[in-house]
Amino acid sequence: MMDADLARIRADFPALHLPVKGRAPVYLDSACTTLRPEPVISAMADYMRRNSGCHGRAAHAFGREATRVVAEAREATRAFLGAAHADEVIFVRGCTEAINLVAECLPLGKGDTVLTTGIEHNSNLLPWQGLVRRRGVRHVVLPLDPARGFDMEAFRARLRDGVRLVSVVHVSNLCGIELPVAEICREAHRAGAWVLVDGAQSVATHAIDVGAMGADFFAFSFHKAFGPEGIGALYGRRDLLARMPAWQVGGDTVEDVTYDTCTWAAVPQRFEAGVANTTGAVGAAAAIAWLRGIGPDRILAHATALNERATAALSHFPRVHVIGPIDSVLRGSILNFWVDGLDSRSLAGLLDERAGVMVRYGKHCVHAWYHAAGIPDSVRASFSIYNTPADVDALTDTLGNVLSMIG
Ligand code: PMP
Repeated sequence: MMDADLARIRADFPALHLPVKGRAPVYLDSACTTLRPEPVISAMADYMRRNSGCHGRAAHAFGREATRVVAEAREATRAFLGAAHADEVIFVRGCTEAINLVAECLPLGKGDTVLTTGIEHNSNLLPWQGLVRRRGVRHVVLPLDPARGFDMEAFRARLRDGVRLVSVVHVSNLCGIELPVAEICREAHRAGAWVLVDGAQSVATHAIDVGAMGADFFAFSFHKAFGPEGIGALYGRRDLLARMPAWQVGGDTVEDVTYDTCTWAAVPQRFEAGVANTTGAVGAAAAIAWLRGIGPDRILAHATALNERATAALSHFPRVHVIGPIDSVLRGSILNFWVDGLDSRSLAGLLDERAGVMVRYGKHCVHAWYHAAGIPDSVRASFSIYNTPADVDALTDTLGNVLSMIG
């Protein structure tokens, strides 16, 4: 990207221009959450200043405005995901809640098998473990070596075991690899299974088209795509959602209630209990507009170029081990590594202390994979559209200094 373009994009992010301990922040944790651009911040602030109405069923002007912004955000999300119908978009708190909703509401029980991969986020593992305990569902884990990627042959073989639901990550938060989700959907459907795609890490860097992908469900959070926390969306195929019962229940999930009975509202209201996160919806719509203005392809290309630069620098340090493919292009925006003889918490602390470099440490909510691989923890840097080559150098130079210090 041209320097002027990058400077213009960076100018949109106030957080990059507020010194931390007297230094410009070097934010390399966008896989955890992205920074918010000014148009998202001001759209939300503006909405809160003008309006505090409840969405739905209010005849007054504030209520109508609230209803309008939620409907607009739903339509923007529909278009963003390439869904056919706006009522296939359910607003939730985030990706985690979306997956829990599917786990609770899909008719899965004894005799049904749910298949996940060995690199799923805890949010796409624990809900299925819960079904094993509570409903006698069988859970099968397809091992996945991050360096080799998804094994389609092994997947096909496992599908023959009566799998009812396949739930897989689109882009891994562990190592940045992309799974061939369209082919996974095709194979799963051929075997009579539904597919849930965890899109937490793909929405900011990949143009999503749930129709072309063939996913039955697609889950994500807006805070990883330049929007606010506390709002995400579940896309669900219309006919499937129509068959699913309500989960969290209360205001707005019903058409009518007596002391003993109720009739459920239609989808999506049936799944959106309580007052809508209207301000979040405003932020979500603004984030989609901002993201589409830049283009996910451009974000991925920029992040990948930075990852290449960082990976090349790290290759000079023999104590550093990168998780995933050697080829940084296959890791997109993620550089996850561990260092022989140095725990990730200490390293992340030193990077922050010495150069204001913000990275994540630990097991990155993929605990099960770390246990299986026998790796205690790692440091993950993740890049986005607002990062610069200087950010990369701050990471790799500081890491070099730390390594020479420990000998
Ligand atoms: N899946 C993946 C792959 C993720 O990276 C994350 C967030 N780290 C989640 C699910 C959960 O997202 P959230 O915490 O926003 O619900």
